[in-house]
Amino acid sequence: MLTKSDFIKYLQCYKYLWLYKNRKDLIPADYADRFAQIFGEGYKVEDYAYKLFPDGADAYDEDFKTAISKTQDLINKKIQVIFQPTISGRELFSRADIIKFDTKNKCWDIYEIKGSTSVKDIYEADLAFQKVCLETNGLKLGKLFIIHVNKEFVKKGEIKPEKFLTIVEITQEVNDLVKETRTQIKEALMVLQKTKEPQIRILKQCYDPYECCFTNYCWKDVPTNSIYNLAGRLSEQKLEQLLDEGIMAIKDIPEGFLKSHRAILQHQAIKHNTVHIEKDKIAQELAHLKYPLYFLDYETYGFGAAVPLFDGYHPYENMPFQYSLHVLPKSKAKLEHYKFLSAKFADPAPDLAESLRKIIKSKGSVLAWNAGFEMGCNDQMGQRYPKYKKFFASVNLRMFDLMQIFRQGYYVHKDFAGSASLKKVLPVLAPKLSYEKLNIHEGGTASESWRKMIDPATDKTESKRIYNDLLKYCELDTLAMVEILKVLEKVIFG
Ligand code: SF4
Repeated sequence: MLTKSDFIKYLQCYKYLWLYKNRKDLIPADYADRFAQIFGEGYKVEDYAYKLFPDGADAYDEDFKTAISKTQDLINKKIQVIFQPTISGRELFSRADIIKFDTKNKCWDIYEIKGSTSVKDIYEADLAFQKVCLETNGLKLGKLFIIHVNKEFVKKGEIKPEKFLTIVEITQEVNDLVKETRTQIKEALMVLQKTKEPQIRILKQCYDPYECCFTNYCWKDVPTNSIYNLAGRLSEQKLEQLLDEGIMAIKDIPEGFLKSHRAILQHQAIKHNTVHIEKDKIAQELAHLKYPLYFLDYETYGFGAAVPLFDGYHPYENMPFQYSLHVLPKSKAKLEHYKFLSAKFADPAPDLAESLRKIIKSKGSVLAWNAGFEMGCNDQMGQRYPKYKKFFASVNLRMFDLMQIFRQGYYVHKDFAGSASLKKVLPVLAPKLSYEKLNIHEGGTASESWRKMIDPATDKTESKRIYNDLLKYCELDTLAMVEILKVLEKVIFG
């Protein structure tokens, strides 16, 4: 039996489909948890989409045989809109989101609900599979639609589904794909017959269009410094060239093969076990810094949230709920630390801005890691609350991106693994500071934890625990910058 999601896995990678059917034991235990927020948001979007069809009847049942008979029953009763209709037969199984009967043309239209803000190519393949499956089982189809989140939507009071969602017809695109889809379905069914695990090269399919759940297994023999984590990333064509030569480790790449400056520096650092440091360039950059130095980091909610929590926000718009700010008033002065963490179920921006404005004065550099992110948040808060516009504009004018020293390749260490992220740089330059011992050690978890913390339904002891964990996590981000700056100054001034 080939389901729609099996087919999508097949299109991504035929080994993915085979492993999914034969080796579910290899899926990491925390895989579903990692995507819980995405699934949760998807269900919320579905609920809004169903409200667009107030007369719909639900055919869903966990047991697929019951779901099939429920669907047939609703069709027989001439119900015009059916949610989650389940159709199966001749080796294919499909559960659409919504079908609606077109009384004029005597056929069914399909509406597929997606949590994204645009129509992606993979959705055409998704609907093409459904069309083949439903038509093979005797349903005459008409128009085909995607319902997705409207990125222009701004929350103002209760969310109205017709404003929050956009409906796009893709009938022609899907029809153009049906012939190819029939062939692909046959090929996918052949993969299911295989008793031996298929082999395939590791290329971008492991993360495109979705993160595969077998990367731990397929990537287990990839060396630490591999051709997959070269700075700037290699094109598929270049990767294939190296794999043809049996090369997977960066150290084995022949001289002259790499073209990107940072990748060449990384290659040399790994091959000769050296650290590349351009003292002049780093000194030039650090000369821009003016005391007092403010080390700023935001934690935000919204990146994975289709449904905005508060008025004034777009779907998926980042909303800072916390900052950590270390301040060095002058060279060798005592380091100060300030923090803010919103614990209310309300837009955190006004309180955060008010608190920050009291500490960041009109002079001095503001350091951030990947400063474009903090600057974007500042711009948005300034626009949303004009009272703080001037303040945030002044902060942005004085922003200094410490990450650029590493992104530009002025400091390259083999253990950065081709990355300039704080999580890669910190353990090398300041190994005493570590995220490992913290309960929260990356931004995505911080965001989900905060959402849980402010939820009135969350137990108070649990909220308090999350509150403390968030404070520790964000503080480490700014302390990390303080320590990294110290290391850079030591390199230059001794
Ligand atoms: S990890 Fe990559 S190669 Fe392995 S099954 Fe998934 S997509 Fe295919």
